[in-house]
This record gives sequence, C-alpha cells and structure tokens, in this order.
Amino acid sequence: MPSPQSQSLNVRTALKQGIHLLREAQVPSDTLAAELLLLHITLRDRTWLYAHPEEILDPQTIESYFSLLRRRATGEPTQHLTGKQEFWGLEFEVNADVLIPRPETEHLIEVALDRLAVRELRSGRDPKLTGEGLTIVDIGTGSGCIAIALAKELPAAKIYATDVSPAALKVAQRNATRLGFSNRITFLESNLLVAFASSPNQSLAFDLIISNPPYIGRKESTTLPVEVRDHEPAHALYGGEEGYELYGLLVPEAARHLKPTGLLVLELGHDSLPAVRPLFESPEWKNLLVTNDLAAIPRVLSAERTPA
Ligand code: GLN
Repeated sequence: MPSPQSQSLNVRTALKQGIHLLREAQVPSDTLAAELLLLHITLRDRTWLYAHPEEILDPQTIESYFSLLRRRATGEPTQHLTGKQEFWGLEFEVNADVLIPRPETEHLIEVALDRLAVRELRSGRDPKLTGEGLTIVDIGTGSGCIAIALAKELPAAKIYATDVSPAALKVAQRNATRLGFSNRITFLESNLLVAFASSPNQSLAFDLIISNPPYIGRKESTTLPVEVRDHEPAHALYGGEEGYELYGLLVPEAARHLKPTGLLVLELGHDSLPAVRPLFESPEWKNLLVTNDLAAIPRVLSAERTPA
C-alpha cells in the first residue's frame, strides 16, 4: 500500500486515517487531536472541516499532516504541534518553555473575581469590578494565562506577573502583546515574591496574590502521561519530591505582601489539600474557602489576610 503522504486524499479520508493512526498509538482524545492538526495544517476552521468532506488535499498538505500525526503518536502534546491553547476565551501561544494552560485553572479566575467583588461589597463600594485601585500579582505566570485573563476582566487593575524562567516570561510577554494587554501587565523575573522584597517594588502591597504553582511530586513523575513528563517544563510541574513544598514558602511570603483584607488564591494539586490547609491555621488568615473543580477535586484554596 502506498504511504498516505504520496497520495492526494480528501478531507474525510485524511481525518479518518489520522484518527486511526492516533488510536493505534493510544493517544487520548484521538478525534479531537486529528481534527486540530488537520485544521492547523490547512489554516481552516472546524465548520470547513465538516462542510467540505470531499475536498481534495494536496500531497504536500497530507505529508505535513501525517508528519504532525506521527509526532503526536510518539507523545508530543497537540498544543506543541499547533503552538496554541485556548484559556478564558483567549488564544495563548504555548511552547515547551511553559505549562500548557489547563481548563481547571479557569476556576482560579472565577474564585478571584467572586471574592474581589464580595470584598468591594463589604467595603460599601460598587461590586461591579473594574479593578480600579487594585494591585494584583500572578506568581509563576508561565504562558501568562492567569494575569492576562485578569487583565481582560479587570480593565483598571494594575497587574504584575512573575516567573523564575526568563524563557517563560518571553512567551507571557508575547501573549500579552498579541492579545493587547502589554501596557497593563508588568512582567518580572522572580522566585515567588522575591522581586517585591527589594526596591523599587518593595513598598507594593497587593489586593490579590494568585498562583497556579508547580505542585506535582517528583516521586509521582513515573505516573505522569508522557505528554506531560517528557514535554512540559520540569520547573513548571514539580513542587519538590512530595509536590506541596512550594506552598510552604509561598503562603507565608504572601502574608507579608498582601494588604489587610487582601486575597490569596491558589490552585491545588489533586491531593494537595491536606498539606496546604494547615499553612493557613494562623491568625494572619481568615475566611478560608476551598472550591472544587468539575471533577469534584478540591482545586482552589482562597483566603483573606486578616487586618493587623
Ligand atoms: N500560570 C500558568 C498556568 O496556570 C503556569 C503555571 C505553572 O507553570 N505552574 O498555566
């Protein structure tokens, strides 16, 4: 049988062969992945895919498509092959320097916006938030997805975003520029909040500190899917041998950098809660809230800094 690349195929057959190739390799979400790769190569949208099943694809297109399918079959994430991932209705550039934004991280944005609105209401201000007067920092911004989603929702907020990785910051900055938020976000290379412990940022205090920190344990690395373990950056995945180590540093640092009644909103790993909750058993914190994700996993922990 001639290899598919040497033939012209129509859209329907190309898709069918693509799904088959991925299914044989036990790639999860094989249909979606084959569709996304074909759309990426043809620069089309999904409506076109199903409206023109008989359209003939030229051999060059077929060859590029099968080359991406083979890379996907050996474990490269679809998002690294297409270079993008949607988050909060925005399209983010991603590459191997950043964590691919996950849908459950959108819960962080929801919790942050809800709790900021409640805070306004309690202070007798309008709960319809514009972000006026609010200073926010996203720790470990990666692709910039959290900082940029907040910039979209809070058009008057002052937003900072940090990452230890200069390569990640470059991706985040490109995303902010492409999406039109570069003048709203200050990007800083920093380990957690260290950049705010010295001048010129020393006097900053935040209304919201938000983070999806690395929280996977290195001891769990062999259980991770190959897409994650071999393709996403280790410094964005692992919090330490156990996984929860970074929370132990971040929570006390956050307490020092929040305004009174300021909020800390953290993403949790699937089993982080028992190790993280005790970090908030201190008079510095009140109104602890744990929010589950759609899979009923405790995913977001948020708390308020007690006024001194
Ligand atoms: N803030 C980014 C995200 O939520 C990156 C997080 C990380 O690298 N751990 O996707």
